[in-house]
Amino acid sequence: MSSQTMTSPRALTGAQRDKLRKRLEFDMEDLHSQQDLLRLQIESANESRRGVATDESEDPEGSSLAFERAQAASLLEQSIRHSLEISHALGKLDAGTYGTCERCESHIAQARLDARPAAALCIRCAS
Ligand SMILES: [Zn+2]
Repeated sequence: MSSQTMTSPRALTGAQRDKLRKRLEFDMEDLHSQQDLLRLQIESANESRRGVATDESEDPEGSSLAFERAQAASLLEQSIRHSLEISHALGKLDAGTYGTCERCESHIAQARLDARPAAALCIRCAS
């Protein structure tokens, strides 16, 4: 008889931790290159705007550039927030506290960490 479903989550094994660390590091690299790209987009939108803004500030090209820029800026913000979560999680891996809920200190279910490796709270505290 095995009633695994109702047991509370167990601590991660070393192998599981290593796997999640690799995923976090991979995601981090991904986010960093995404951020570089977005910064370039914002910069080039800024420059093209400087070029067109002088005579007709109401022209459609100028406003779509502004829109593009605002969109890139909000994506960049999200991406930075996510990478902060990840670096926090990596710090916890180094400190040996990874996989533990920051509020109630119980183990975070592995399924949750698989879905969101940077999760800081267990499913109960997060909901
Ligand atoms: Zn909790």
